[in-house]
Amino acid sequence: MRIGIGYDVHRLEPGRPLMLGGVHIPHPLGLAGHSDADVLLHAVGDALLGAAAKGDLGRHFPPGDPATAGIESSVLLRRIVALLDADGWRAVNVDATVIAERPRLAPHVPAMRDHIATLLRLTADAVSVKATTTEGLGWSGREEGMGAQAVVLIERD
Ligand code: MG
Repeated sequence: MRIGIGYDVHRLEPGRPLMLGGVHIPHPLGLAGHSDADVLLHAVGDALLGAAAKGDLGRHFPPGDPATAGIESSVLLRRIVALLDADGWRAVNVDATVIAERPRLAPHVPAMRDHIATLLRLTADAVSVKATTTEGLGWSGREEGMGAQAVVLIERD
């Protein structure tokens, strides 16, 4: 078994759709980035790559590569799962925290867990998604951006 950690932050901008955990969340601000900027899926992807010691998201999908401009992060995560598959690694469980001042994410957590579980070929009870604010402090509190942290356990025979 191996463990991996992932962390990501993206800037909030008006006029962008807010994607978190592969779920579209109605909100006046969305995350800006080269892909759909889904911080939660990026943190999970980096944790998977980290567990397998296969670099990071930026190495596999360089920002600025026209081939991945505007790409859904679910597609990136599927590619990472395939990369680990090739070495016999499969995910065991995921625990993630989204750092966001607004909106309230609790109503969307079940859909995020289901989506991540499907991508990783897990059941939803092996995927934990939590949310926290920073009590108004710092970049998250000022709603300049959102962040996410994730740890993932992987195993192989
Ligand atoms: Mg990112």
